[in-house]
Formats: sequence, structure tokens, C-alpha cells
Amino acid sequence: METPGSQSSLHRANLERVVRAVRMAGALTQAEIARSTGLSAATVSNIVRELKDGGTVEVTPTSAGGRRARSVSLSGDAGIVIGVDFGHTHLRVAVGNLAHQVLAEESEPLDVDASSAQGFGRAEELVERLIVTTGVNRQKVVGVGLGVPGPIDVESGTLGSTSILPGWTGINPSEELAARLGVPVYVDNDANLGALGELVWGSGRGVRDLAYIKVASGVGAGLVIDGQIYRGPGGTAGEIGHITLDESGPVCRCGNRGCLETFTAARYVLPLLQSSHGADLTMERVVQLARDGDPGCRRVVGDVGRHIGSGVANLCNLLNPSRVVLGGDLAEAGELVLGPIRESVSRYAIPSAARQLSVLPGALGSRAEVLGALALVLSEMGDSSLIENAQPVATPAFT
Ligand SMILES: [Zn+2]
Repeated sequence: METPGSQSSLHRANLERVVRAVRMAGALTQAEIARSTGLSAATVSNIVRELKDGGTVEVTPTSAGGRRARSVSLSGDAGIVIGVDFGHTHLRVAVGNLAHQVLAEESEPLDVDASSAQGFGRAEELVERLIVTTGVNRQKVVGVGLGVPGPIDVESGTLGSTSILPGWTGINPSEELAARLGVPVYVDNDANLGALGELVWGSGRGVRDLAYIKVASGVGAGLVIDGQIYRGPGGTAGEIGHITLDESGPVCRCGNRGCLETFTAARYVLPLLQSSHGADLTMERVVQLARDGDPGCRRVVGDVGRHIGSGVANLCNLLNPSRVVLGGDLAEAGELVLGPIRESVSRYAIPSAARQLSVLPGALGSRAEVLGALALVLSEMGDSSLIENAQPVATPAFT
């Protein structure tokens, strides 16, 4: 029994701090671990040695600022993580390890709205197949991250809005998949996973405060505050699609008028171009045509950017993130959409909130959510299984 404040519980807390820092960052030098945990260099050195002797971390020589340093990462053998991402039209699965290596990734088309049972069946098959093809030890799987294209009700764990996925009404996605795979399953929506994916593997690396904006059938934001996803008590934080831009604007599916979504989401934007560009137009095609110089598509992409920028300006005033990452198909438009976003931000945000902000396209494209599902496991899994093998070394009286 450990008493809070006792020598051994302090030591355990320090082990956890070091493991947590490395778990999310992938690899850190010992100096970086000391900076991010607030522990002394000597304590970090002792703890890293303990974790290395227990097989939890690997230490490799590196250089930092021209000086020799030791890079610390979780051991690839310490555990396997799996990501499953349901989009509206696809299923994507990835297998990775705790050292942040992605070992395999595969996607297939799927009509997710049709039947949840069919969707989970296909996910189970694909996970089993990738476990076999990568040759990973099934006993080492520490958890599965699951992405669904809609908000999750925090209390019930079910999909919050039945209108988004009618075939999934009353389903608890994490319980359903956990029963099939026999491992813990962590679930989140696509915007939060996109944010986590970009934070750990993409355009958000190195920052602790980030907003990931995804424009698709709706508009959502995944918010990272001080290195953690912010969900709010009901799990609906980040619904920037329903910020009011024009009180007499078009009626939104939420019942209000002139929401950001009514100026930016595909269902509202595509009809503006369909009479001139054909009824089968998609957002992906609009972006391609804009890049090829089509004036109508350029105009629409620019307008969408300006409107997103107004929403981002509000977000900056509230949360002051250091980075905004644009995901989804729209990010492929590059400066055609990012330029107008930045213009609106500098026009509408308080200068001190906009000053340190960088607006970047996502680096992961359509992989952002499934890599975010891997990152969700890294973020939620806890440290107890990782530190139980630590081999205590002779330490000074205070560690
Ligand atoms: Zn709305």
C-alpha cells in the first residue's frame, strides 16, 4: 500500500510523468523530457535507466543543436495500438506500436450508414487480417482507437446525433467493437481524431494548442488545449459549424439561420456551381478545378476560406491556439483557401490572438483520422502496464 506523498508514490508519479511525455511525443531527448516534465536532469537520467532496464523505453544516440544527446522513445515491443476509422464511405484500419511506428494501413470502401453490424463485421475482419500480415503478437495489443463520423454522447457512449448516422441509432460503438476484438476500445469523433493525428504525426507536431478544422458534409473542429483534446462535458466542444455569421442567412439543419456551415459545407456550396458545372460535382472536383484555374470554383473556394476564417477568428479570440490545421479535401486547395482564411483572421481576430497563429494545411490528408485513432490509444491508455516492469536503480534520497 502506497501512501500519497511517500517516497515510493513520488517515484511512481515521476515514472508516469516521463512515460506520458514520451508516449505522446514519440521520441524526446533527456533534456526535452526534463523541460516538459519539470524534473531535474539527474532524476530523468535515473528514471530513463530504470525504464530501459525494464524494456519499456529504448535509448538511441542522437544530436541536439550540434551536441550529442540521447533520444528516448517507448520500446516498439512494449505494446501494439490499432486504429479503426469509419468515414461515411470508407473503412480504414492501421496497426502501429508504442514507438510511433505505423506498421500497416489499409482502407476499403464501405457504406457506413447502411448497417452498423456489417460495418463492425468488416472492421473486425480487416483488423484480424492486419494482425496476421504484420505478424504482431496479439497479446501485446494495448487498445483500439475508433473513429466515427459524428458526435459521441459522453454519458451513454452512443452516437449523439441520430440524423448523422441513421443506421447506428442506439449503438454503443466502443462496446460493440470491444466485444468483437476482446481489447479496450476508445472512441471519438472524426474532428477530434484528425486533431490528434496531426498533433502527433502531422502539421501540429511540436505545439500544445491546436485547432483542427474539417469541412465535409458538416464543419467541425477538434480542439487540443495544453496537449489534450478538449471535449467538454457533453462531448460537443468544437462545433464551430454553428457559429452564427448572418442572422438572416440560409436556414441551417440545426434550425438556426446563417450558421458557418451554411456558407462552407458541401451540401450548401455545391449547388452554387451545379448549374454551370454539372449535377455530379463533388468538393474534391471543385478543389481540383480551382487549382486548374476555373474562375467559378476559385471564387467559391476563396469565399469558403473567408467564411472559415471568420469562424477561426472567433476561435482565436476564445482559445488563442498557436496553430490552426485545415483538414479534409479542402486543404488540397492550398493557398487558394488558406490565404482567404488568414485574411479573415487578421481582419476579425484580436491582434494579440492572431499574432502567433500559423494556419497550415493538414499533412496527413485522408489518413489523419486513422492515425488519430492510434494517437487516441496513446493518449488514453494510461501508464500502469508500462511502468510495472521498471527496474529500480540505486537512487539518491530524493528523486
Ligand atoms: Zn447550424
